[in-house]
Amino acid sequence: MRTSYCGTLRAADAGREVSVCGWVARRREHGEHLAFLDVRDHTGVVQCVVARADAARPEHVVKVSGTVRLRPEGTANPSLSTGEVELADCKLEVLNAAEPPPFVLDGHAEVDEAVRLKYRYVDLRSARMQRNLRLRASVNSALRRAMERLGFVEIETPLLWTPTPEGAREFVVPSRLQHGSFYALPQSPQIAKQLSMVGGVDRYYQIARCLRDEDLRADRQFEFTQLDLEASFVGETDVRAFVTEAVKEAAEAVTGQRPPEFDQMTWAEAIARYGSDKPDLRFGMEITDVSGVLRASELKALRAASVKAIVHPGGASTGRARLDSLVERAKALGAAGLVWMRVVPGDGPGALEVDSPVGKYLSHGERSGVLAACGAAAGDLVLLVAGEHRRSCEVLGQLRLDLARPAVGTGGLRFAWIVDFPLFDGVDELGRPQAAHHPFTMPNPEDLELLETDPLAVRALSYDLVLNGWELGSGSIRIHRADVQRRVFSALGMGDDEVEARFGFLLGAFRYGAPPHGGFAFGIDRLVALLAGEENIREVIAFPKTQSGADPMTGAPGPLGARQLAELGIKIVG
Ligand code: ASP
Repeated sequence: MRTSYCGTLRAADAGREVSVCGWVARRREHGEHLAFLDVRDHTGVVQCVVARADAARPEHVVKVSGTVRLRPEGTANPSLSTGEVELADCKLEVLNAAEPPPFVLDGHAEVDEAVRLKYRYVDLRSARMQRNLRLRASVNSALRRAMERLGFVEIETPLLWTPTPEGAREFVVPSRLQHGSFYALPQSPQIAKQLSMVGGVDRYYQIARCLRDEDLRADRQFEFTQLDLEASFVGETDVRAFVTEAVKEAAEAVTGQRPPEFDQMTWAEAIARYGSDKPDLRFGMEITDVSGVLRASELKALRAASVKAIVHPGGASTGRARLDSLVERAKALGAAGLVWMRVVPGDGPGALEVDSPVGKYLSHGERSGVLAACGAAAGDLVLLVAGEHRRSCEVLGQLRLDLARPAVGTGGLRFAWIVDFPLFDGVDELGRPQAAHHPFTMPNPEDLELLETDPLAVRALSYDLVLNGWELGSGSIRIHRADVQRRVFSALGMGDDEVEARFGFLLGAFRYGAPPHGGFAFGIDRLVALLAGEENIREVIAFPKTQSGADPMTGAPGPLGARQLAELGIKIVG
């Protein structure tokens, strides 16, 4: 129907007879018999000079044929890719009429998200959504390219999977043929991909939809997409190299530049330096341990085992009300308190002093010792938290983000591998260790003997990939021996019957020749959002759900009719 896309016409096309198709973005009358129509498709808009444009209203679907010509002197629009030209002597055909749109698509108006989602098919016409969807498609295709180059085979794993008795919250699908039985939609293809390794696949990947019935947040939807991969006869560094290659290829496809080498640090180092296992490396303000300086302090609170500090450059001008709110924030995060010190010039050249509620309780040596240890300069604000190591680091890590985190889309792309996670992360209310990743993660062989005696000290062969403070994904070398797997299940507090009911088929597979294997999965929605400079993953998903899990467009979730319920053997109670 057309010869050209709207947004592609340029001065060099002047004189060409072309046809474009799309939606009317704007109509401006010019005298009685002439109008300018901006016609839009996914490539942009082009101005068309049309006689008798009355029939063309905003969002009408049109075909316009005309001659490309340079716009008259002084009327070019530099903010438009087609701003030097227009279509003249146009023939206008209305292919379909449209009612007035529910909102204007000029990219300027703030439109309520619920309204955007209700009319998503209109919203998708916006330049922003077109850009984001196409960016996402190029990320997917780059990931596929990289995985295939690395010898990975795309395998589709089932959507109808087995429910995990008493496991995490899953979406379930009732069976029509076996009333009272249910499938579960996969939270991840984790077990299926491990079984494919037992099946000799060697290198598996999938752009996999995963479903988790968890509370929604800005970076979470009920269903999300992962690049999921698994490989046999590999170690940690192999898996990280595969993922690095795929992510670099995707980032390069979008930005045109290959990202720099990824940072790498241990989990313990990430906690100590940034107070987080997903550190945002786009800015400094690292945590310093100043315990040594304050060991003999007159202030009991600061003689704690662990005193940590961060320096907010230029923060000395922070007002009292803001400082009070920082103290409250620190307490809400679990600190006993927060000590602040504004750094001011002291007597004599280069000397520093502090303006702080605790200043008079600290000796001169302690005050200058703290400033020297954390490298503070006049005009800075120093924040101190005393207490248990991890808690103090995490509180300051959060304040660091509150005070200085760059906006999404700024500060470049800082990827980091976090390695050597603990196998377990704390204990539940019954005192049972909780898996830091999932129960299939291989314990570090050096720590195997601690599994029964000091489980919280066991390190895992696991690793996370972090980008600008977002966890992109995680992976590990897996357990491939039934005896080790049973020990980990038992450390997690699972009895033999429970293990059999939930994971009997996996342990069964381990009896028939399971190769050593490991893998990874990362969230494509998150990666695409960060590459697109979007704060919310809903902006990079064609048809997302709202924060409450609803779809305002289709009305999902919705009720089932009586016949369907009967067929499924389901009775609604309450
Ligand atoms: N299955 C894990 C997840 O979805 C990732 C992995 O370990 O491969 O988080």
